[in-house]
Amino acid sequence: MTDRIVVLGAGYAGLGAAKRAARRLRGAGARVTLVNAADRFVERIRLHQLAAGQRLPDLPLAGLLDGTGIELVVARVTGIDPGSRTVRLDAPPYELSYDVLVYALGSAAELDSVPGVREHAYTLATADEAVRLGARLAGAGEVTVIGGGLTGIEAATEFAFTRPGLRVSLVSGGLIGKGLSARARRHLHRAFRRMGIAVRERTPVAKIGPNGLLLADGDELPAETVVWAAGFRVPGLAAAAGLATDRHGRMLVDRSLRSVSHPEVFGIGDAAAADRSGRATRMACQTGLPMGICAGDAVADLLGGREPRRARFRYVWQNISLGRHDGVTQFTRPDDSPLDAVLTGRTSAAFKERIARGTVWAMRHPGPYRP
Ligand SMILES: Cc1cc2nc3c(=O)[nH]c(=O)nc-3n(C[C@H](O)[C@H](O)[C@H](O)COP(=O)(O)OP(=O)(O)OC[C@H]3O[C@@H](n4cnc5c(N)ncnc54)[C@H](O)[C@@H]3O)c2cc1C
Repeated sequence: MTDRIVVLGAGYAGLGAAKRAARRLRGAGARVTLVNAADRFVERIRLHQLAAGQRLPDLPLAGLLDGTGIELVVARVTGIDPGSRTVRLDAPPYELSYDVLVYALGSAAELDSVPGVREHAYTLATADEAVRLGARLAGAGEVTVIGGGLTGIEAATEFAFTRPGLRVSLVSGGLIGKGLSARARRHLHRAFRRMGIAVRERTPVAKIGPNGLLLADGDELPAETVVWAAGFRVPGLAAAAGLATDRHGRMLVDRSLRSVSHPEVFGIGDAAAADRSGRATRMACQTGLPMGICAGDAVADLLGGREPRRARFRYVWQNISLGRHDGVTQFTRPDDSPLDAVLTGRTSAAFKERIARGTVWAMRHPGPYRP
């Protein structure tokens, strides 16, 4: 009997998992189906570049799947029924049955943590959002980025680098780059000063209005274009289906990346939370890509009648671009906590660029890639 593997989401995690499983199960009578809302692979780690006006390579999924035997279904997943082992789609074939499901639906911008985000802010969690923001920035004189995490830092510096006439501000509720070492943060602030980026740390935003920000301390900050980069949320499909999730809706998975409530379901990437030394895995391509490869191997183990192997990957660094010619590479312990070692400047920028290209290479060749 043919084993049916259905992978939901063709991002870094899902595409890697589908290709790895198909490769490992070639000739074993398994059918791999990959479902994705669009027919393109989106390099999410470059979306700030797209919003800044740079061109990104076009990566049709059909090309990336060529020769793999994987069936691509372009549709939105609207529901999962673990009882009947089916998923519902908004386009043909409308329903798919599975023996093993891989849940890799990624994340989207969190729009509800502060009033006014939906109405007055731009986001850059998807390619469409980045294109819309890019169109706005093309005619803008000012942009205020909210969010002191890696996405906010990369966005503000990319905009300042690509559009030198643009006034750029970066507002953060806490410290900017708070998980980084003091050395790395000092470098960030040197880069902000050099690029003329106005920085406000420890400044929580209470509301976004048509003309700017209302801060938690009651002050107002005028802003022409606001970019909300202060949080991501995951799809609610896992929780709605009764799969075990954490309070954010991320699927809880064991060390083999299987759902702790439904072992025939694997969860990977942003949409899943694996325990890493007491902390949930970081939402990052750096996490999703190795998770995908590990899940592909574990699915092949399961269908081959073996105990699915444990996912083995560890954090080594965090790479942050500061425009195209500067960056910070923060070396980390395996649990992702920062060491004092950092790489900065052009060397870091070149390193990050190699890593970004390497992710697409790994999407093309998930066979030889080892997390
Ligand atoms: C601007 C920006 C910069 C970033 N920079 C970095 C970085 O430098 N390093 C790093 O490690 N991480 C970075 N990240 C985070 C990284 O992009 C994500 O963690 C990563 O994309 C997660 O991979 P994933 O496969 O889980 O999800 P995704 O890449 O989001 O893929 C999920 C896929 O599922 C599809 N999908 C979602 N819902 C449905 C549905 N209902 N039906 C069908 N398909 C659906 C989506 O269309 C998408 O193709 C950045 C993110 C952003 C936004």
